[in-house]
Amino acid sequence: MSQMSLERRLHDSDIFPHVKYSSLPQPYSSDSSVIKYLPMGAVYINEQGKSVVANSDRRAVHEYQARQMDDIVRDYTRSKEGRAFHDYARSCGHTFIQLIGAGTGDLGEHTVAAVIHDGKKGIIVSNYDGKDFRTRVSEFASQYGLKHEAALEYVLTHEFGHVAGYNTESSNEGFIKDYFLHRAAVTHGGEREKYKTLAEVAGQREQEAQNAGYTN
Ligand SMILES: [Zn+2]
Repeated sequence: MSQMSLERRLHDSDIFPHVKYSSLPQPYSSDSSVIKYLPMGAVYINEQGKSVVANSDRRAVHEYQARQMDDIVRDYTRSKEGRAFHDYARSCGHTFIQLIGAGTGDLGEHTVAAVIHDGKKGIIVSNYDGKDFRTRVSEFASQYGLKHEAALEYVLTHEFGHVAGYNTESSNEGFIKDYFLHRAAVTHGGEREKYKTLAEVAGQREQEAQNAGYTN
């Protein structure tokens, strides 16, 4: 199966404890304690715009990629799409872990991005191991027949699904499928078609995750 994972199987390790969340998100709160949860080389950009380096042996390139990811995540949280997801998740009763930054790390060959967190605080990281996030999003777009922008929205929605408390791939894909269906119901024209397609992708990935044993 050629499914490109959005995360490595970090869920098996203790950096994804199953904890109920109680705090609000959004760029970013200031606490760097999550750094001890970084198992791989990574750099992230904190609330003050400073780069925080953890175990990275590619500091310069990681920092460059981290700045790009920080911009992407900040843009998303301010966008209509990001706000719509945030409002939807809140309306479903979810609270968010505190994002303390966004950046880049070595996540393994087939991974696009991940949320690394301790149940309370976390960071969103893009993958960089020689191939950049934009290229990976383009590959993801090709795999599912999506436009680049729609694929980027998918990936970010997925990561914020984790931020909203979904720790398994199947439960997260199920949640964002429902979100995309909701968006399809309240939008029109090309936007509606986009969300219908994204819901189909999420449904397919939910099924694949269940088949792969990532059930909740
Ligand atoms: Zn995921």
